[in-house]
This record gives sequence, structure tokens and C-alpha cells, in this order.
Amino acid sequence: MPATDAAEYRDPIAEALASDRPAVSFEFFPPKDDEGEEQLWRTIADLAPLEPTFVSVTYGAGGSSRDRTVRITERIARESTTPPVGHLTLVGQSRAEIELVLKQYVAAGVRHVLALRGDPADGPRAPWEPHPDGMDHAIELVELARETGGLSIGVAAFPEGHPDAPDRDTDADVLVAKARAGAEFAITQMFFRARDYFELVERVRARDCELPIVPGIMPILNVAQIARMAELCGADLPREVVERFEPIAEDRAAVRATGIELATQLCRDLLDGGAPGLHFMTLNRSPATREIFERLRADGLV
Ligand SMILES: Cc1cc2nc3c(=O)[nH]c(=O)nc-3n(C[C@H](O)[C@H](O)[C@H](O)COP(=O)(O)OP(=O)(O)OC[C@H]3O[C@@H](n4cnc5c(N)ncnc54)[C@H](O)[C@@H]3O)c2cc1C
Repeated sequence: MPATDAAEYRDPIAEALASDRPAVSFEFFPPKDDEGEEQLWRTIADLAPLEPTFVSVTYGAGGSSRDRTVRITERIARESTTPPVGHLTLVGQSRAEIELVLKQYVAAGVRHVLALRGDPADGPRAPWEPHPDGMDHAIELVELARETGGLSIGVAAFPEGHPDAPDRDTDADVLVAKARAGAEFAITQMFFRARDYFELVERVRARDCELPIVPGIMPILNVAQIARMAELCGADLPREVVERFEPIAEDRAAVRATGIELATQLCRDLLDGGAPGLHFMTLNRSPATREIFERLRADGLV
């Protein structure tokens, strides 16, 4: 990037996270086919009027979606006024291949990456096997992205602790180490109790680290699907939440309404308690996210 651009550039994500107004962001996944991609562009267009601080595009399990993730992220950088955050993982890729993706992002005007270890190709609960010429932990990717230059770096955080971590304190040590290595913000895994988020923030602040931690929000619109996803990523679907859905399990509209109500209340509690933003995992659909956003806007919270 020319020196003058670097001097003029103000990082919109850092600015939003430091401001009094919550940063709102939306996460998408790279679709498998053209039809899914059309749906994704419709969703991105539908959500644009909400003026998100950023949107992010996941990197498929096992690094399988690499080309599509990069292509979609680059197109957002080119065609949209909303900055994209490209997720990037270590799965199935050598250090040289990962370095190439980082450089490709920078060349295409993508200025933010979410530096992740990634989920193994056999699923999130399968044992982690690094690529023989690759890296073992996300912190090494944070370091590599810093060396590459021109990128602001985000990382993953886990309100309930990462499932492989021996305890939540050790997991907070890992997050703080990533911040000290150059991560500028974190986005959390889905969770359903505000307390878990605030306790994570407390553990990080107790380590003298001011890393902004944005809560990841996954509204429950289909109980079986979310229960499966939560189990895979090691999040606990609390009994009190499950009990809200049991009597209405056969009524899709009621499930959806309850899921939106619960997610809205979680967002209210998080923002009231000082969360710097909300990151919505949209599953490439806009209506539920819009509804939650509009309720929060009516409350004057976003
Ligand atoms: C917001 C968000 C977005 C995500 N997007 C994607 C995506 O796009 N694609 C995808 O495949 N997955 C994604 N994931 C899932 C994520 O890749 C997995 O949860 C993965 O298991 C952990 O990634 P990490 O970056 O936290 O890894 P790491 O920081 O490497 O941590 C992994 C484990 O190793 C431990 N650890 C870390 N460093 C050390 C060390 N130096 N010594 C010893 N132990 C250590 C940690 O405590 C943890 O148990 C996402 C997760 C979140 C929260």
C-alpha cells in the first residue's frame, strides 16, 4: 500500500469498537453453488441498509472453501462500502500457502482477517492434526499476518472456554497471548448465557488486556440444528433455554418467535453490560437478524 494511503487510512473496525455506538457485524459462509451464492448476495444487499461495521466470510471446514471464501471476500472489498473480514485457518495448508492468501487479501484491498486455527476436516471434535509444513496454533497466524503487514487482525474467543482447553483460565491466557502477538479484536463462539461472556471479559481484563471482545450471536430458529451446532463447537445449550422450546417444538412459527425473543434479550443484556458490539451469525439469511436488529434499534441500543 502506498505510504500516503497508509498514513490516511483509519481502521473503521477499530474506530467503531472504540466508540460509544455498538459495532454491528454479520457473518456469512461461502455457498456451495451458484444458487447459494445468489442468495448470499441478496442477503448482503438486504442487510446493507443496517450499515454494519463489517461483514465476515468463514473459511470452510478443512480449508475446503478456500477459493470461494477468498473470491467472495475480495468481491465485497471491491463492490461494497462495508469492510469485509476474511476468516483464515491453518487447516490443510502449508505456511507458504497461508502466506499467499494473506498477500492476496492485501492486494485485493481486504484489510482485516480473522486468524483461526480452524476446525479439522473430520469435524470440530476430531483431533487436531497440523499440516506437515503448516502451523499448530492460531497465534502463529497472528504473527504471520502481522509480518505480512497491511492487515488488522481478529481472533476467536470462547465464553465457555475452548473445548480442548484444560480450563477457562488457560483459555484466557491463550486469548491474551494472541492480543499481545498483535490481535486487535476478538469475536466469540456462540453462547446463550450473558454471564459466560462477561466472565470471559473479566478474566481477560484481570490479565491487564483491553482487547475488544465482540459477542457472537446465533439466534435459535431451529432447535435441533442449533443443538447440533452447539454440541459440535462445545457450547452448552442451557436447560432453561431448551425448556422454553419444548412445549412449542412442533410449531415452527412459535419456535422462530421465541428464538428471536431470546436472542434479542441476550443482545440487550450484552449491550447493557458494556459489550462493544454484536456479531450475528446469519447462516446467509437476513430476516431473523433484521428483526433482532430492528427491535434493538427501537430500544435505542444500536
Ligand atoms: C468467531 C469465530 C469464527 C470462526 N470461524 C471459523 C471458520 O471460518 N472456519 C473454521 O474452520 N473454523 C472457524 N471457527 C472455529 C475455530 O477455528 C475452532 O473453534 C478451533 O477449534 C479453534 O480455533 P482458534 O483460532 O481459537 O485456535 P487456537 O488459538 O490455536 O486454539 C486452539 C486450542 O489450542 C489451545 N492453544 C492455543 N495456543 C496454544 C499454545 N501456544 N499452547 C498450547 N495450547 C494452545 C487453545 O487453548 C485451544 O484449546 C471460528 C470460531 C469463532 C469463535
